[in-house]
Amino acid sequence: MADAKKRVVVLGGGPGGYVAAIRAAQMGGRVTLVEKDAMGGTCLNRGCVPTKFLIHATDILWQANHAQEMGLSFGDATIDLARMMKRKEAIVDRLRSGVDYLMKKNRIEVVRGTGSLLGQGRVAVGGTQPKALDADRVIIATGSQPASIPVKGAGEKGVMNSNEVLSLTQYPASMTIIGGGVVGVEFAQILNRLGTRVTIVEMMPRILPGEDEEISSLLRDLMRKEGIEVYVNARVTAMRNGGPGKTSVLFGDGAGEKEVSSERVLVAVGRKPYVEGLGVEKLGMALTKEGRVAVDDHMETNVKGIYAIGDVLGRSMLAHVAMAEGICAAENAMGRARRMDYTVVPRCVYSSPEVAGVGLTEAEAKVRHGDGNVITGRFPFVGNSKGVITDETSGMVKIVAESRYRQVLGLQMIGPHATELIAEAGLAIRLEATMEEIASTIHAHPTLSEAIAEASLEGVGRGLHI
Ligand SMILES: Cc1cc2nc3c(=O)[nH]c(=O)nc-3n(C[C@H](O)[C@H](O)[C@H](O)COP(=O)(O)OP(=O)(O)OC[C@H]3O[C@@H](n4cnc5c(N)ncnc54)[C@H](O)[C@@H]3O)c2cc1C
Repeated sequence: MADAKKRVVVLGGGPGGYVAAIRAAQMGGRVTLVEKDAMGGTCLNRGCVPTKFLIHATDILWQANHAQEMGLSFGDATIDLARMMKRKEAIVDRLRSGVDYLMKKNRIEVVRGTGSLLGQGRVAVGGTQPKALDADRVIIATGSQPASIPVKGAGEKGVMNSNEVLSLTQYPASMTIIGGGVVGVEFAQILNRLGTRVTIVEMMPRILPGEDEEISSLLRDLMRKEGIEVYVNARVTAMRNGGPGKTSVLFGDGAGEKEVSSERVLVAVGRKPYVEGLGVEKLGMALTKEGRVAVDDHMETNVKGIYAIGDVLGRSMLAHVAMAEGICAAENAMGRARRMDYTVVPRCVYSSPEVAGVGLTEAEAKVRHGDGNVITGRFPFVGNSKGVITDETSGMVKIVAESRYRQVLGLQMIGPHATELIAEAGLAIRLEATMEEIASTIHAHPTLSEAIAEASLEGVGRGLHI
């Protein structure tokens, strides 16, 4: 039974923290949330929300410039970046007010300031009005910050991180992006569509290294076709002044030393969990070898009653994972015994075309189940009526299943609205559905979702439109 008198203190008001606070309040907790900056955290203020707005806006621009084939002409599309950024701020403000409203609605006390752990059951809040809070349970949700790259010249004038790019009031003529992960790829397309000459320098053999190989290669080819230069296997060794208004990035890519000069450099090499200053050492809190807070399956640290969730764990740095971990931690803090389940975590890249995946990739499934025990089904969007109607035929769906019952293990796709379509695959995996069950579910026509049904049909040897 939930203890109505439990005092829960949440450190950090990002998607992990504020969702944890709501869940603990729903279960009868007396909840205080401590936030040192803006409610909504990285996701709302400097991450998911502003980037997806800029992707949406620049996509419209791209579509306007390519509408002639449909018999539509809008003249020369122009960009007012100041207005675009103002709109972005208005959207962020609106959603931030929504979070403030949810705090009030759930009677969550919000304290402004920097929180740290004073001892078991005590939290200090620094800032203009320092105070100490008593807590039966603490949930650490302090998130992360952009990681820097440890090379000479990383402090050059033109070098920036993702927070700074989102505050640009003028887009640069050229930008080198170090890192071809999700953040690097999304910014590359935003900037390219705004007219910036973009170069990506990625250390791994491919961009989006965690995604299915076929899919990341297809995206790389499409990005190159759009005019984005992509170097892979390229390790950055230094940065230096590249002449007036330019910064040079030096890297080796197997074929020798190379140098790219551009007006700005975006470092998008990952994120660093916010652990410093929290006081974890005082409590003897265990950290992972990478220096992140370590938790068990219940999201509890080795210090009883103190939980940690979201980016600060450095596991799957995604807003929806932070929220799911927040719910799990809050329920456990309020007396339940829930385990966090990471089987169904959608991974989405809001590129053009979009990339999404859930569950195991073909390669991962083969490692786990054995080469001969895995089957796949594929379907290209070129065979999908809706894709042809909207002229979005680049891409494909790949479904992965074990061969005995054909139970779905994973689905990866690249194509229009992939980030929306992936929800069907997540539910299928969660409900242990088979390829036949997806294939025999009637999908509306003409819709992009038919591509998922068709890939499943193809997997069981009954493809119709291929
Ligand atoms: C450019 C970019 C784009 C992204 N796009 C997506 C996307 O499309 N989809 C997606 O799922 N994820 C995306 N992410 C990742 C997502 O933003 C994070 O995974 C998510 O915000 C993590 O949530 P969190 O609650 O753990 O931490 P955060 O959102 O970082 O929130 C932590 C909060 O804690 C506060 N805080 C820190 N220390 C203290 C302290 N000591 N006391 C009080 N408060 C403190 C911080 O000010 C912050 O508000 C993106 C990230 C970036 C950078």
